[in-house]
Amino acid sequence: MINSHAHLDFDDMNAIAENAVAIVPSIGKQNWIDVQMYPYFSLGIHPWLVEIHTQQDLNHLEYLVKCNNPIAIGECGLDYIKKVDKETQLNFFVSQLEIAEKYDLPVVIHAVKATEDVIFLLKKHPKVKGEIHGFSGSEEQAQLLTRMGFYLGFGMQIINQKSTKIRQIVKNCPLEFILIETDDHPNPDDLTLVVQEIADLKQISVEEVVQQCDNNAISLFNLK
Ligand SMILES: [Zn+2]
Repeated sequence: MINSHAHLDFDDMNAIAENAVAIVPSIGKQNWIDVQMYPYFSLGIHPWLVEIHTQQDLNHLEYLVKCNNPIAIGECGLDYIKKVDKETQLNFFVSQLEIAEKYDLPVVIHAVKATEDVIFLLKKHPKVKGEIHGFSGSEEQAQLLTRMGFYLGFGMQIINQKSTKIRQIVKNCPLEFILIETDDHPNPDDLTLVVQEIADLKQISVEEVVQQCDNNAISLFNLK
């Protein structure tokens, strides 16, 4: 079972999951080296952290991408809830879309209250493929993104019965566009809960969910 987004290098993560198959995204220069301990890692600058990064860091990111074969660029994106300068966020996101385009790599996108702008920028970079992890947009945005070939990542937020909007989106989203993840949840083994919930919502078997989501991750991230 492939966990498409798990911050296994974070201090508070449960160590048990370290041998599991997971895609470990980086958040900035502070963990570009750490994530490379894992077989599948991505390199990028998280929108929360753009203000501590410079153009020089972006150049270094590109150098590492060129030399160290990450499976994706990210996580990158836009977050309009966080008090981080919007213009800086946009600049860093566009630069990372350009790196993804140049090195033909998918992007792992963090989008919070910013899905509309993310879609706008993705349309300007039609060659870039990827996923919106921890999807929190609308039903219409989910449909639009999957039509553009983007995958949507869902995690522990769908377990909450009160998350009616996101649970409805999971129900309606074709399984061919779903990725499963635990993000920064302290126990990555809880991925089974996410799978179980998707199976229940879609009235299909757990095996079917695991197989299709694994295939989705293998195909998007070109896993060997
Ligand atoms: Zn994350």
